[in-house]
Amino acid sequence: MPNDSIPNTLRPATQLVHGGTVRSNFGETSEALFLTSGFVYDSAEQAEATFKGEVTHYQYSRFGNPTVAMLEKRLALLEGAEACIATATGMAAVHAALLSHLKTGDRMVASRALFGSCYWIVTTLLPRYGIETVLVDGADLDQWREALSKPTAMVLLESPSNPMLELVDIKPVCDLAHKAGALVVVDNVFATPLLQKPIQLGADIVIYSCTKHIDGQGRVLGGAVLGSKAWIEGTLKPFTRNTGPALSPFNAWLLLKGLETLSLRVDAATRGAAAVADFLATRPEIGRVIYPGRADHPQAELARRQMTGGSTLVAFELAGGKQAAFAMMNQLKLIAVSNNLGDSKSLATHPATTTHSKVSAEERARLGISDGAIRLSVGLEDPADLIDDLGQALGNLPQAVRAAAE
Ligand SMILES: *Cc1c(COP(=O)(O)O)cnc(C)c1O
Repeated sequence: MPNDSIPNTLRPATQLVHGGTVRSNFGETSEALFLTSGFVYDSAEQAEATFKGEVTHYQYSRFGNPTVAMLEKRLALLEGAEACIATATGMAAVHAALLSHLKTGDRMVASRALFGSCYWIVTTLLPRYGIETVLVDGADLDQWREALSKPTAMVLLESPSNPMLELVDIKPVCDLAHKAGALVVVDNVFATPLLQKPIQLGADIVIYSCTKHIDGQGRVLGGAVLGSKAWIEGTLKPFTRNTGPALSPFNAWLLLKGLETLSLRVDAATRGAAAVADFLATRPEIGRVIYPGRADHPQAELARRQMTGGSTLVAFELAGGKQAAFAMMNQLKLIAVSNNLGDSKSLATHPATTTHSKVSAEERARLGISDGAIRLSVGLEDPADLIDDLGQALGNLPQAVRAAAE
């Protein structure tokens, strides 16, 4: 039974610790881990009644599990969404949200600046099933207006985008999308549930890779889809029940523990990212720093209006191109080279040769992903140590690279 002593009106930091908790008869303080695939019934009659939908009883962990349900409830409370389904990965969440809703002959519109696998689903997988997909430059409202002048089933957007932290003005895009008959899906991974509230801006569905800030300690994969009760129960649930992207109860339990510290971690990493971005902007080797919390971000005004913080990620461009970017990454001692993000450990990525290596060079140019671009996911280290590491890496660039860069 839900713990109804925890009201829905509590503030986010409190929901992160208590929301959705259901205590077993043992009265445990920490959420129980129900690592079970199946459930037993008191009688054959109870099993029959459960399958008829006459009584509520867990049946099988592909359909539902008490630990996973606590996570879903806590995420829904945090997001201000009516319902949530947790999935095994962020990509399972994206895939299920799109494929459960779209059918042959439908049209979808997406911002071009998408996470690599989202881009593959939209440009390669969906067209295979006869779904027309149109890509727009997410920052350009005129392109959205043009693309949404025809009936459309779904819109997918990411803001801030991976890796170049470009923003979409979510509210007017939702208004245009709704007029075209579309549901709006926002991949809110980079903003986290704390720095941006897409549903309040008009979005219908919000998606997370829980692998990132929600776990936040680089341990497990997970995902979540949030939306109205009618859509989650009526459209998404039949799809996930029968296709099986279920989240392991063990991973759900770790993610519940991750949520308890989410606001502390996101606050600290956001402060660290802002300090790192300000430092990088002072360095002659860096051509451009992109951080939504800085006044020189091309959409700084929109960032202030739509987000409550600048994000935990920073993108920057070395003037010396790939050679300079690689040389710098190889000099880092504390910050690790990795394509993950949202970890307590700071991680540096070269998108052009890793996360976006399968995107054509022409499309990368359109997305602003140059060969000198580095994406930095700022973790929980003391920002002064991160700045020291970045400073020594830039200071130790080989002479030849330095000459090219400055
Ligand atoms: C990581 C990520 C995903 C995919 O999540 P997985 O958990 O790796 O499957 C989707 N969108 C964005 C923006 C991401 O950063």
